[in-house]
This record gives sequence, structure tokens and C-alpha cells, in this order.
Amino acid sequence: MKNILITGGAGFIGSHLCDRLIEEGNHVICLDNFFTGSRKNIEHLLDNKEFELIRHDIIEPILLETDEIYNLACPASPVHYQFNPIKTVKTNVLGVTNMLDLADQTKARILQASTSEVYGNPAVHPQKEEYWGNVNPIGIRSCYDEGKRVAETLMFDFHRQHNVDIRVIRIFNTYGPRMAKNDGRVVSNFIIQALKGEDITIYGDGSQTRSFCYVDDLINGMTALMNTENFIGPVNVGNDGEYTILQLAEKIIKLSNSNSKIVFKPLPSDDPCKRKPDLTLAKEKLGYEPKIHIDDGLTKTIEYFSKKLG
Ligand code: NAD
Ligand code: UDP
Repeated sequence: MKNILITGGAGFIGSHLCDRLIEEGNHVICLDNFFTGSRKNIEHLLDNKEFELIRHDIIEPILLETDEIYNLACPASPVHYQFNPIKTVKTNVLGVTNMLDLADQTKARILQASTSEVYGNPAVHPQKEEYWGNVNPIGIRSCYDEGKRVAETLMFDFHRQHNVDIRVIRIFNTYGPRMAKNDGRVVSNFIIQALKGEDITIYGDGSQTRSFCYVDDLINGMTALMNTENFIGPVNVGNDGEYTILQLAEKIIKLSNSNSKIVFKPLPSDDPCKRKPDLTLAKEKLGYEPKIHIDDGLTKTIEYFSKKLG
């Protein structure tokens, strides 16, 4: 049994990770400041004696005994990370430094949740790990994508300077049950709009692409990376099925039997035109293969939101 700290554990991905690591027989410490996370996401674990919940903000230092740290604390949707951009940068600089200091002191292995956003608006397609990216340092997405880039830098500097045992995963657009209703990401927005019969809001002309990964597949890749020896990443994990946002809207309307109409709204600045992971490295090093087809994943997510709304 390992003692595992999950920061951001009450969030969408973090709560699924709590479930998985508890199921596998570990002791889990879930740490969260509840900015975008919710007690509801982890309520079913509160009576489990192997589960602990700590309300804390990672921009403040903390000392805990731990064997492994999954550092997921950071708002992930543009609406939330742009709400207080300075705080988003602090979470990725001060917060990541605090977690690396903790890993250094306790000799814990630490995994950083990085993102496909480190590639910015990519000039290379699909994106391989060796691509350095095309990121605007002063735009409205910079607090997040530059924040995550410096978080990767800190991980590798602590590894080189203090020999900290690191893992870096670059997560591509992930969806599934427990996404926050109000977080403004495309999958949750479209599903909620479709279920309520409201207009589906496409930003821009809908020709931009994303590649959507169901959360269970992502958790498989994330735990595989943490448990792999002699490979620290960075490594892309996601699903390489690529769809335009217009195709996604049409899929969601169909799968939820909705009468919603599609409407077009202005495209936010610096919105990447295309995104698709090259998964060669994850397949080779982690034996990773996404298994859930987008239609099945969306159906499960539609079921989740229809219960939540109903
Ligand atoms: P989320 O917003 O649901 O979860 C983030 C969690 O971190 C929340 O519970 C929030 O309350 C907590 N948090 C935020 N700032 C904190 C702080 N300073 N101290 C303590 N807790 C804090 O988002 P998510 O989709 O579950 O994302 C989890 C991680 O994965 C994030 O680091 C995100 O950048 C990364 N990621 C997610 C995606 C995706 O598509 N979902 C893609 C790439 C990377
Ligand atoms: N998007 C959209 N309508 C919405 C929400 C998002 O058309 O209601 C678009 C957004 O402009 C982007 C894509 O969908 O091109 C994915 O957006 P999301 O915020 O989910 O993820 P990210 O842009 O961070 O990849």
C-alpha cells in the first residue's frame, strides 16, 4: 500500500484518479482548494478510512508524508483559468515549486499534469513531444500555457539539480462525468445546451479541431506513467481521433436526440486551430492505447449530465 497525495483531487480528473488509486488498495490524500473542484466529486469516498481530504492551496507550502504525488491542482478550462490569471500563474510557479520541494524532502516520486497547451497554436500536426510549440507569451491563454511550460521547466530543473524523481504527462482534451457544469469547456457546454434544448454555441466557424479522450483512458495512461521505471516523459496522453468542433456539435445533437440549433459566436483570441496527439511514445513506453470510442464516451457523459440536470 502506498501513501499517495493527489493535488486537485476534488476536480474532474483528480476525483477519478482518487477512485482508481483507492480501488487499487492505496491510501489517498486528496488536497484541494475547491476553486473549481467539488465535494460532490469525492463525497462517496469520505467514509473510506484510506481516504483523507485536506483543504489547502498549493501556493502555500505544506509538509506531508507521501510516497507519490500527482500534481493536478490548477484550473483547466479557459473560463476558470482566465478568471484570476495571476493566481493561475502562481499555482503553476509557486504551487509547483512547493510540490517539488515536498517531493525532494520526502523522496516521493512526483507526476505533473501538463497539457497539450504547451504546443500553443501548433505549426506541426499531429503534435510530437519534441515539438517546442508556438505560444503567445502575453495573450489571454498565456497564464495557463506559459504557466504549464514553466511548470515543466521546474520539474526538469529539480530533476537535474536535486535528483527529484519526476514524471511529466501532457494531457490532451479530456472529458467525462464530473466535468463542472459551469466550466465552459466545449463538451460540457454542448451537452448541457443539447439537453436543455438551447442553442449550441460554436465559437468561430467550427472548423478548428480537437482530439477528445475519455477520462478512464487518461487515468490508465497517467497511472502507467507513474508506475514506469526509467522513463520520465514528457509524454502525450489522449485519444488521436480528431474532430472539428462542428462535427462534435452534430454528434452531441444526434446522441442526445436534441432539437437544439447551432449558432456561431466570435472565436476567442489565440484559440488553437488544430490539435491532435502523436501517441507513438505513449504506446511504446507505456503500452498505452485509448479504448473508449468518442460515441461511447459521449453517451456516458450525456447520461451523467441528464441525471445531474434532471
Ligand atoms: P478541474 O478544474 O476540474 O480540476 C482542478 C482541481 O484543482 C480543482 O479541484 C481545483 O479546485 C483544484 N485547484 C486549482 N487551483 C488550486 C490550488 N492553487 N491549490 C489547490 N487546489 C487547486 O480540471 P481538470 O480537468 O480535472 O484538470 C486537472 C489537471 O489536468 C489540471 O492541472 C489541468 O491543467 C490538467 N489538464 C486537464 C485537461 C483536460 O482536458 N481536462 C487537459 C490538459 C491538462
Ligand atoms: N468552444 C466552442 N463553444 C463552446 C466552448 C468552446 O466552440 O461553447 C470551442 C473553443 O473555442 C475551442 C474548442 O471548442 O476551439 C475547445 O474548447 P475547450 O475550452 O473545451 O478546450 P481548449 O480550447 O482549451 O482546447
